[in-house]
Amino acid sequence: MLSIKPLPYSGSSLEPTISGKTLEFHYGKHHVGYLNKLNELIVGKYDGTSLEEIIAASYQKDAPVFNNAAQVYNHTFYWDSMTPKHKAPSDRMMKLIKDCFGSFEDFAKEFVQNGVGQFGSGWVWLIACPEKGLQIVKTANADTPIIHGQKPLMTCDVWEHAYYLDYQNRRPDYVQQFLDKLVNWEFAEKNLQA
Ligand code: MN
Repeated sequence: MLSIKPLPYSGSSLEPTISGKTLEFHYGKHHVGYLNKLNELIVGKYDGTSLEEIIAASYQKDAPVFNNAAQVYNHTFYWDSMTPKHKAPSDRMMKLIKDCFGSFEDFAKEFVQNGVGQFGSGWVWLIACPEKGLQIVKTANADTPIIHGQKPLMTCDVWEHAYYLDYQNRRPDYVQQFLDKLVNWEFAEKNLQA
């Protein structure tokens, strides 16, 4: 049986950017739902296997297992990508962002564009890549960068369930607010150094 960590902050602490109601449903129903479904699907299979190994083993072979396992992983990564104690990136991280995107504003613009440009459900990610330093990628549905050999630094969930109660159809506003108010740059930097 796999388990998930409790949320790293209290349910209302991301307000007003993300409401307690959204967080309650998103964590309690969606994330826990993916976990429960996954545990149901893997009974007698994948015993003693880590979540990352299950994701790799089921990719393009067992869609229900892959979708639920990757969604369990992606959501844990998303909770850690946010903090109620949001601060600007460190000087080191900011320099890297400027080197890769020109300016922080250009980075933010490209991140929001990718979040909005993901047709339907999915995720927008900041990843580290050997040639280019930092890169923004989007993935559809449960798809996750770790299956493509990429190293994620932080992510924003752009499934409607992540923002609809608070922003209705205004996905650009939600992604912009996520960047302005919630990103945990310390988490991103820790991933970069790992
Ligand atoms: Mn979600």
